[in-house]
Amino acid sequence: MKFMKLTDNHTHTYYSTDSQAPVRAQIEAAIAAGLSGITFTDHLDPEFPLDDSMFMFDIDAYFKELLPLKEEYKEQIQVLIGAEIGMRPNQKELLPKLAASHPFDVVIGSIHVVDGYDPYYPEYWRDYGTKKGLERFFEVTRECVRMYDFFDTLGHIDYIFRYMPKEGPQMHPIDFIPLIDDILTELIRKGKALEVNTAGWKYGMPYPHPCPEILKRYCALGGKRLTLGSDGHKPEHLAYDFSRIPAYLKNCGFTAYSRYVGRKEEEITIL
Ligand SMILES: [Zn+2]
Ligand SMILES: [Zn+2]
Repeated sequence: MKFMKLTDNHTHTYYSTDSQAPVRAQIEAAIAAGLSGITFTDHLDPEFPLDDSMFMFDIDAYFKELLPLKEEYKEQIQVLIGAEIGMRPNQKELLPKLAASHPFDVVIGSIHVVDGYDPYYPEYWRDYGTKKGLERFFEVTRECVRMYDFFDTLGHIDYIFRYMPKEGPQMHPIDFIPLIDDILTELIRKGKALEVNTAGWKYGMPYPHPCPEILKRYCALGGKRLTLGSDGHKPEHLAYDFSRIPAYLKNCGFTAYSRYVGRKEEEITIL
């Protein structure tokens, strides 16, 4: 299936520590998938626990490689240059400066670190337990969306459920609706977008991020801006399950998505 009107707004390359994908391979895969656009959003997550610069890269080198490719492929696909910036409440000066340091098309704000832990690792769950681990994630997300304005869209709002321990209580994002409502309300108030990230399906979850309950809630609260991303770290993961997106969005009350060019929103109807 071709997705002629879709831009994959969340993708990684070898500029991210957790990807080995060459930029050109990602562009070729995006063209093969029939995308009209691809936005590179490599990780900028300064002061990462254990290894400070683990999720940082040379942004000048990134632009230097990507700009000529954007030009080379312009007849086939729109190549956009963004970043996924990790948000933490103790980086008040650093993060806005980082976002403004280069002419990114879009900045995704994501939470990858909570109270100095990466929830990907079992220590987080060992020390907090399931309920508090999930709750702290949403509390920190709320604090960050209230505190920061430098981002355009909030990345994978409920991805932490991927790492919820198999033993112990099995919780669902709807168990945290009051916190999630606060986050969604703040995004709407600030005119920020919410990301629909298909990596949930890729990881075998019954839903993408966010789950339908959150997406419906966002719609009910008046949310209109959505960005779409596969979070693909490999060529085969670009546009992952994008064929399911139109029906999923429609079921949750949406008929359009947004993408960002030069930090400006463009709304695109897909149904
Ligand atoms: Zn992320
Ligand atoms: Zn990502």
